[in-house]
Amino acid sequence: MRGTQLGVLLPVMLLLTGCAQSASQPQSWDFFAMDTYMTFKVWPQDPALPERTRTEIERLESLLSVTRDGSDLDRINHARGTPVTVSPETAEIIQMGLSCGAETGGALNIAMYPVSKLWGFTQDTHQVPAPGEIADALEHTDLSRISVNGETITVPDGTELDLGALAKGYAGDRLRSVLQENGVTSGILSLGGNVEVIGTKLDGSPWRVGIADPFAPSEILCSVMTRSGAVVTSGSYQRYFEENGRRYHHILDPETGYPAEQGLVSVTVTGEDGVTCDALSTALFVMGKERAVAEWNRRQDFGMILITDEPALYYTEGLDMQDLPAIPVEVISHEP
Ligand code: AMP
Ligand code: MG
Repeated sequence: MRGTQLGVLLPVMLLLTGCAQSASQPQSWDFFAMDTYMTFKVWPQDPALPERTRTEIERLESLLSVTRDGSDLDRINHARGTPVTVSPETAEIIQMGLSCGAETGGALNIAMYPVSKLWGFTQDTHQVPAPGEIADALEHTDLSRISVNGETITVPDGTELDLGALAKGYAGDRLRSVLQENGVTSGILSLGGNVEVIGTKLDGSPWRVGIADPFAPSEILCSVMTRSGAVVTSGSYQRYFEENGRRYHHILDPETGYPAEQGLVSVTVTGEDGVTCDALSTALFVMGKERAVAEWNRRQDFGMILITDEPALYYTEGLDMQDLPAIPVEVISHEP
């Protein structure tokens, strides 16, 4: 349901102030990759940048795409239990996904592909699977049976990996690095619900990142100001289908194999690197508000904005929130 992704585009479009490209102005471009509209606004200008970012995304897709023949993930998923040698980056992201899975009590599970395939989210062939099919597929999602030994990955026959929960975060980090290596000192990039910033705006002020309204995704519910790092949102409004009057979204609860229903409709995580924020935003969505707050208190290295289905908005102390909405808003403070 591509139409539902429009919701995450609006914040992006509001960030772009047109395409006038005189030398003192930022340079803007966009393209579609990783099933997402990616938009860029950077300074100073360099005509080579659009192609460099596109090449980098193409490189990452050829490693990380779960649907592309011959990608590292595709080779792992067709190895039938035999070890597969992958690029150092793929191994690193898998290791990171496994660590985050362990830290979040399995809420992040990069081995959910046998289950998510049944729901058809990756192939855009949506359907509600039979309960027995889900139960059978869940048998193959045991993270403890995945081995990473340097660049050699071994997963049991029947287990398949999907890095969809953190690949865009990693891609955002890489694109940010590519732009910085090419002289960019100010910029904002948006990959669907993942925003990354470089430096401040040209006038020295922080970037204003809009958080989509989960109940009207083409609108912005509120904004968070940021001077560095990533702002990543996972929401049930981002990808879903409806069947028999019920809505089914793409973030699955690894305990049940069904879309996570813990009362959250949107989770935004802010932090230094996009891959961590991306992994966490998916995991915290699955965990629900109470466990998410506990995780925030435990780690203390990220910011968090939760929107519940009540609706109500909760954000962690220290975030510079703007344009707060007319729904109940509460600040989450550190436990003493
Ligand atoms: P995100 O949009 O970053 O929250 O990631 C959602 C994507 O991650 C889905 O489209 C699936 O490909 C995958 N996914 C869904 N549920 C989970 C989960 N519990 N753990 C890890 N990956 C998941
Ligand atoms: Mg994620």
